[in-house]
Amino acid sequence: MFIIVINLFERMKDALTYADVHAHISEDIFDADRKKILDECRKKGISIVNCSGTPESNRKALKLAKEFKELNICLGIYPIQCAEMSDREFFNELEFIKQNADKLAGIGEVGLDFYWIKDDEKRRREVERFREIIWLANKVKLPLNVHTRDATAESVSLLAQSAHVPVVLHSFVGEPAVADVAVKNGFYFSIPVNVIYNKKRQKLVESLPMGCILTETDCPYLGPDPKKRNDPLNIPLGVKKIAELKNIHEDETRRIILENARRVFRI
Ligand SMILES: [Zn+2]
Repeated sequence: MFIIVINLFERMKDALTYADVHAHISEDIFDADRKKILDECRKKGISIVNCSGTPESNRKALKLAKEFKELNICLGIYPIQCAEMSDREFFNELEFIKQNADKLAGIGEVGLDFYWIKDDEKRRREVERFREIIWLANKVKLPLNVHTRDATAESVSLLAQSAHVPVVLHSFVGEPAVADVAVKNGFYFSIPVNVIYNKKRQKLVESLPMGCILTETDCPYLGPDPKKRNDPLNIPLGVKKIAELKNIHEDETRRIILENARRVFRI
């Protein structure tokens, strides 16, 4: 029986076609039809890396991973939470993530957010805590799934100094010079599906080597239609657009991006 289950998993891995390396499929908005979406993704070979960033969503993600064996999960402490939590709350959650490290594909969503957090003292706390999170990722040898909103230069420089594991910059919209530093450091960029219309993201894709490109939905956000809920089934749209921008055959683009995702998250 055990061998049959392992074989089944190997076959599922072989059947992978795409990877959504940053999804929030554990959010309540998917409660009603999550199973349907995940069944459809399995049929189409779309692998999902689910990210969470609060004590509540981390526990929910772990529960879902038991139910849906094919779901890869990252647990994290979202930067805005990092700015607001007490020391005790933060270190308890960090310990919780450490205790569950063997069940994870990565650590995330973590990072820095200076868009919502304006207060200097709170920003300092975010940076301090992100340092602790990077330290944990190094210790448990798991990749980092990183949020950098309005703090791209700060995030990239901190990661370049201290991360010794693969780094994925999710939904990056920084300056080209910052992207260059990230590329030189071997960081990955996960490109949201809204690349199909977002000119800034299209420019970024054009400038990146294929070896550092990944795809994500950040669902339920950043979809092809900003007014509609996004989900991992939209990933092929992003890959198609990236192929067009890079002038590489769509199937070859898909293959390279999947290979990149496998290398980082061991999916
Ligand atoms: Zn996210």
